[in-house]
Amino acid sequence: MPAVYSNYSGKQTVKGENMRTWQKTVTLGLLVLVLSSLSVLAADKIKVLIVNGQNNHNWRECSPIMKWILEDSGRFTVDVSTSPAKAGGDEWKSWRPKFSDYAVVLSDYNGSPWPDEVKADFVKYMQNGGGLVVVHGADNSFPEWPEFNEMIGVGGWGGRNEKSGPMIRYKDGKVVFDNSPGAGGTHGRQHEFVVETRESEHPIMKGLPAKWKHATDELYSKLRGPAKNLTVLATSFAAPEQNGTGENEPIFLALSYGKGRVFHDVLGHGAVAMAGLGFQITLLRGTEWAATGAVTIAPDSIKELSADKAAIRAIPKEVLQAKK
Ligand code: ZN
Repeated sequence: MPAVYSNYSGKQTVKGENMRTWQKTVTLGLLVLVLSSLSVLAADKIKVLIVNGQNNHNWRECSPIMKWILEDSGRFTVDVSTSPAKAGGDEWKSWRPKFSDYAVVLSDYNGSPWPDEVKADFVKYMQNGGGLVVVHGADNSFPEWPEFNEMIGVGGWGGRNEKSGPMIRYKDGKVVFDNSPGAGGTHGRQHEFVVETRESEHPIMKGLPAKWKHATDELYSKLRGPAKNLTVLATSFAAPEQNGTGENEPIFLALSYGKGRVFHDVLGHGAVAMAGLGFQITLLRGTEWAATGAVTIAPDSIKELSADKAAIRAIPKEVLQAKK
């Protein structure tokens, strides 16, 4: 810029200086405008709290992956509350996630029952209209916590059986509840499987293909629970040749609890499953729905989902290496 003015007289240089002051003012103004719109955008982002700290799955790897999936979309900001590794002790007693600061809580937790005060806080948060996303092993947790089981509809393992409630089946085009006795929670060997939409008009599912192949994962089966206030969004057939049940098992559930909304996603055993594009897109849409009741996220990549081949969106190395 100075070179432009170097041939001008002193007077013109003053003009030039004025010009530069004017330009600086405009630039500064624009900068303020951009920054303030950025802060408005940041304020519009949905605040997510991931809760982890105990899980029979690799939460140290999975939570950063889900944080990346959510934040990379530009729609969410994510904080993490990590519980102490074991119940009891002062650290456990003082662990108090501030649920009410967030539009939605994503549970990557499967471990000791939370302290009573945390449980009470969480029930209140949900009854008042909070959002919950439960991913894979998180639905194994808290078999003895009735309110949690109502929130997730069905869960697995932890001694769950017919006393916990029915299994959800999908037969002849409709949802059926199966009260026959037996343990709740099983899966065959890990494999790629097709996810079938059962509620194509639900905001989470709208615009997704009727069928798409998911990356290699566990196909949770025979989950049991109160199974109330829920919509079965998608199912997958657990093929007997993969040691499956031969049933259409629920894959995504949308539930209401008090004024709150729950997206229950049984997919996501680990990094391989989470690299599935379908896992990522439905996690985004389910999280947005649990937070707001609506879905605006519709990435172009939806058209890459296909029933023939599992679409993959690789997880960046730095995310995989971000293990806590
Ligand atoms: Zn698993």
